[in-house]
Amino acid sequence: MRLILLGPPGAGKGTQAQRLVQKHHIIQLSTGEMLRSAVAAGTPIGLQAKDIMASGALVPDEVVVGIISDRLDQPDMKNGFILDGFPRTVPQAAALDELLKKKHIKLDAVIELRVNESALLNRVENRVAEMRARGEEVRIDDTPEVLSKRLASYRTLTEPLIHYYSERRKLLTVDGMMTIEHVTREISRILAAIGASEPKATAPAKQAKAGARKTAKPTGKMQTKTARKAAKAAAKASKAASKGAKAKKATKKVAKKTAKKSGKKTTKKAVKKVTKKRAKR
Ligand code: AMP
Repeated sequence: MRLILLGPPGAGKGTQAQRLVQKHHIIQLSTGEMLRSAVAAGTPIGLQAKDIMASGALVPDEVVVGIISDRLDQPDMKNGFILDGFPRTVPQAAALDELLKKKHIKLDAVIELRVNESALLNRVENRVAEMRARGEEVRIDDTPEVLSKRLASYRTLTEPLIHYYSERRKLLTVDGMMTIEHVTREISRILAAIGASEPKATAPAKQAKAGARKTAKPTGKMQTKTARKAAKAAAKASKAASKGAKAKKATKKVAKKTAKKSGKKTTKKAVKKVTKKRAKR
């Protein structure tokens, strides 16, 4: 499974990414985390990013694209990944498209966590309080002043990605104002509806799911209904396929019995004969 999580700071991307990691055994790639590690380690990239990050601005596109490109080449990526905090600009998204194309990697979906901006400051304040209570170091960019700058940069530079991925039929929008549990459940449901979270499927079920992928744009109520319909169609198709397999098995059994009675071997012809007889009935 290969996903992108999109949403402003405080939308809950990190929390949901961790849950997806545990459920699907995929790797979380957070450019923010990678950059913070680089700053802490004092690498050349860290030195370049340190002041930019502290101010709430974005690190240059080529720096983050380079980090992601290197990371995608690592062997632990083969199970899948979830990009958290990347891409953040249209040029980053275009660069990612190129990278994925070159590396023959297919993106399953982009999940947008939609939240009210007014709730974000509260959320970040709570996050800071929780981190302090756990005795963890608080991010220097988690202050009200820097947060408003990060939000402004989200609005102008990152929000256009909603249109970018919606045009490419990759966007799935989830109401990020629900409880953490609800958001997690909703993400699972829409991933199942597009067939991204099940490793195996029978051929007809696969076709039904491909149909679901084309139509499911689970933004809001209407799309939620579409996704539910698609999931139902997939389940029905899979049931029909297993029914078909059962009937075939029974036919073979009858042919075998008939052949045994007449002392002949079960041939394809004998099976065909029984199938014809049954069809007539
Ligand atoms: P985050 O942890 O995702 O909130 O990121 C923290 C900071 O890292 C951001 O405010 C940016 O300065 C920088 N950063 C993280 N990801 C990116 C990105 N994709 N492009 C540019 N800057 C980034």
